[in-house]
Amino acid sequence: MEKIVATAEKPWLVSTSQLKEWDKCKKQFHYKSVLKTQWLTTQKNFELGKAVHKLMDYQARNLPLEPILTEVRQDIQETYLALEANSLAQAKVVANEWSFNIPFSIEVKSEPQPVIWLTGRVDRLVETVVNTPVKQPFYWVVDWKTGTAVPADFKQAWQTRLYLYAIWEARHQLGMPATMSFDQLGFVYVEVKPKRKQAVRLYEVIYSEAQHRQTKADLANVLTAMLAEQRFDLPATCPDSYCPFGTICGIAPAETEQLNLLALPEKPVRKRKKAKKEANQPEVAITLPPQEAVADAGVGTSPFDWF
Ligand code: SF4
Repeated sequence: MEKIVATAEKPWLVSTSQLKEWDKCKKQFHYKSVLKTQWLTTQKNFELGKAVHKLMDYQARNLPLEPILTEVRQDIQETYLALEANSLAQAKVVANEWSFNIPFSIEVKSEPQPVIWLTGRVDRLVETVVNTPVKQPFYWVVDWKTGTAVPADFKQAWQTRLYLYAIWEARHQLGMPATMSFDQLGFVYVEVKPKRKQAVRLYEVIYSEAQHRQTKADLANVLTAMLAEQRFDLPATCPDSYCPFGTICGIAPAETEQLNLLALPEKPVRKRKKAKKEANQPEVAITLPPQEAVADAGVGTSPFDWF
């Protein structure tokens, strides 16, 4: 069975998605992150998130947004405007849509040693000011949550931990003060639902040296286990009713169906209602600024992996 490759010629790029897959189902991890199986997904589910992230990217670059906002779907416009009104969207931008590649070392018994990079993309890093105990800068790693849910245990979620770890390791490269302490850094999920009374909710984590050490140790343990894994066994029951590999992974169909019925009785109904509602909405695609303006502003045109 194929294993993870982590050589100098082909380094292993470790992402939050891989860590989540590993925790959830080893078989899914094997399909997605070892075999790199591409599976068709419904892009419609991601339209709102992609459009709003793009608008927030332009806002950080001070591009004129009024002509675009008049053209986009109403839900996109409302979501963007709710986010834009939040103080984090107005704070000083240190980095925007920042992709990171941070080297990470683990020791294995056999030679050569694995070559590993931690990878990801930070929506935005902003600088604010705190006044206690003295006036000093505070940095927030911001993640806009426009569609997908904030992880239930967001303080322990791999995205929170990996991104804080990466930003701390790259703080000098990002121009943050050489003397800054761990508690001057935090991660915040900015969840936006414009129809809700409180349109924007913040889920904050303040960093610490103990957390940094723990993340480093946990990453070393889990990456060592991933590298050594050869079986990629199925779990006792399927933990992901939306996983696309249900027809090929070998999980007993009855178990998947039973799980769906027991754990998610409302979802099929809700999905059908949503699909009907979306079908009634006018199809207005987001209009992007002229490519020359985009190029001049240095805006990337490659698809973003926000989810
Ligand atoms: S369908 Fe379920 S058991 Fe099979 S690979 Fe996906 S998550 Fe794992």
